[in-house]
Amino acid sequence: AHGRTPLMAGNWKMNLNHLEAIAHVQKLAFALSDKDYDAVEVAVLVPFTDLRSVQTLVDGDKLRIAYGAQDVSAHDNGAYTGEISGSMLAKLKCTYVAIGHSERRQYHGEDEEIVNAKVKAAYQHGLTPILCVGEGLDVRKAGNQVAHTLAQVDGALKDIPAEQAASIVIAYEPVWAIGTGEVATPEDAQEVCGAIRGRLAELYSRELADGVRIQYGGSVKSGNVAAIMAQPDVDGALVGGAALDADEFVKIVRFRD
Ligand code: PEP
Repeated sequence: AHGRTPLMAGNWKMNLNHLEAIAHVQKLAFALSDKDYDAVEVAVLVPFTDLRSVQTLVDGDKLRIAYGAQDVSAHDNGAYTGEISGSMLAKLKCTYVAIGHSERRQYHGEDEEIVNAKVKAAYQHGLTPILCVGEGLDVRKAGNQVAHTLAQVDGALKDIPAEQAASIVIAYEPVWAIGTGEVATPEDAQEVCGAIRGRLAELYSRELADGVRIQYGGSVKSGNVAAIMAQPDVDGALVGGAALDADEFVKIVRFRD
């Protein structure tokens, strides 16, 4: 909606080694054509160990598939064993990096401060954050999904200037819908995505808010993507499980067909 190009992004999570990644991206490249790339932007968020292989394939074949990582360190370099910096991702020509995915928040204790520091690190290195926000089941049951999610947006964007925030992608991913097969209704998705856009208008400007892409994520499949994408404030999907099947992901990219 509003002239925003939808972003259909596959989050592979901890799946597909570098050889499997090459085979998978080749399948996508074979299936997708200029018609698809003109209609939507296609991206894959892959394990760190796959990035070099995906880069080589994308660069070598001039593929119109964007790629990125699923996390980034808040630090630039130094004694942070096991972490990967924004400059390392930039060197591999990543476009995107997911930040604050619910699995990072849940299993790695990422709080608002860390998420905010990672958003800053991404921008510092020219990466576009895909900021993941969304409520758990208890919050949804209490009817507090909007307030909860907007507080996450506020925290993540603290001290982020408009020049940077203008390019952010926000993925609304209700935790109860991730990997559960339980998709939010299109109305549920619209309610929170619309509220996120409203908050961006308050924090920055209406113009900035109208330019930002807001994705829905949570059990998206070829069978439910069209209804979700029909909502005015949903500008793409962040797809987990269904993105591991190249044929299914291509169908999701072609949600308009
Ligand atoms: C995700 O991991 O971002 C996600 C939305 O997963 P799934 O599509 O499997 O629910």
